[in-house]
Amino acid sequence: MQHVIIGSGIAGLAAAEAIRARDASAAITMIGDEPHAFYSRPGLAYLLRGDVPERQLFIRTASDLRALAVNRIHARVDKLLVNDQLLELADGRRLAYDRLLIATGARATPPSFPGAELEGVVKLDNLDDARGILQACGRRQGAVVVGGGITALELAEGLCARGMRTHYLLRGRRYWSDVLDDVESQIVLDRLRHEGVRLHLETQVKQAIGEQGQLTAIETQSGERIACRILAVAIGVRPRIDFGPASRIDGRPRDRSQRVPANQRGQHLRRGRRGAGTRPPHRNRCARCAVAHRLEAGRVRWRQHGGSPRNLPQGNSLQRHAIGRLESHHRWRRRSGRQER
Ligand SMILES: Cc1cc2nc3c(=O)[nH]c(=O)nc-3n(C[C@H](O)[C@H](O)[C@H](O)COP(=O)(O)OP(=O)(O)OC[C@H]3O[C@@H](n4cnc5c(N)ncnc54)[C@H](O)[C@@H]3O)c2cc1C
Repeated sequence: MQHVIIGSGIAGLAAAEAIRARDASAAITMIGDEPHAFYSRPGLAYLLRGDVPERQLFIRTASDLRALAVNRIHARVDKLLVNDQLLELADGRRLAYDRLLIATGARATPPSFPGAELEGVVKLDNLDDARGILQACGRRQGAVVVGGGITALELAEGLCARGMRTHYLLRGRRYWSDVLDDVESQIVLDRLRHEGVRLHLETQVKQAIGEQGQLTAIETQSGERIACRILAVAIGVRPRIDFGPASRIDGRPRDRSQRVPANQRGQHLRRGRRGAGTRPPHRNRCARCAVAHRLEAGRVRWRQHGGSPRNLPQGNSLQRHAIGRLESHHRWRRRSGRQER
């Protein structure tokens, strides 16, 4: 049985490990277009902040990967010919499969404002992006972050931690407004302010401005100009299912309009919260507890991602901060004799 997995992220790796655990003799081929060995993608946020060195992102050792006995191909899959059980690589090679798993993840939605192609307009999808951002960082240089979800927050925290004068632009008045309520959002925004991030609520980029192809500033829709060397955009992700015009998945035409909502990266987190089920009733009602609980659930996701490396912080400073608030809030409730509701 020839198993072929497209994508060498956590889903591809977990599938390879599951197949190998059940069938020692199965032929497994994994095709990935990233040149690196398997690394933790969520760990990129910690790398950006300087919490961990890059080597700590490689959460499977070379011998772990050798023991898996997977034939790894570094290439991009361009076309799926499902009727013939074949796939075609970018270099024209064809590969047959008996079983195929598409584990190609998602990529950042590109911005549509003018100037988006300038050097310095960045996203954070993979290790190369993180390396590029780190290279472009310089103390007291300007950085602008756009986007209302977790990746934008991580970018703002990371750039600020690297000494950049960081501006965070939010389209609305609340951070992560489809997940957090007013109080929860305020905790996050207060923390960002405390860390030195300059917040611009209800603000959108009109255009990125550059000189000789290099970003120098952005102009907001209200006409404000902010000088910056980096404009980090995290406005959602799209599934990577672009396997050429002829490809069909299960005989059905692929749905080009299918988009993953901007908060996709938080879905596990929200599921974790709902699935927890063991919260004291008070936590269900109290916004402060709820936000910390959500962030705690975020920490659990680390473990679901194949275990965090030893010594890797289990939550970033924001998470620790919120959890600290939760603990002191519970202590206050106990001291003041208030009962859990
Ligand atoms: C900065 C950041 C922080 C995150 N933090 C968290 C977190 O704290 N908790 C959490 O749960 N999630 C987090 N996420 C999201 C999490 O990383 C993803 O949900 C997870 O990586 C998805 O795994 P995957 O294997 O499905 O896809 P991916 O990890 O995206 O892997 C897919 C792989 O397939 C490759 N590929 C795609 N198309 C092709 C092709 N045609 N041919 C060959 N190869 C291809 C891609 O290059 C990639 O290597 C974070 C993501 C980022 C970017």
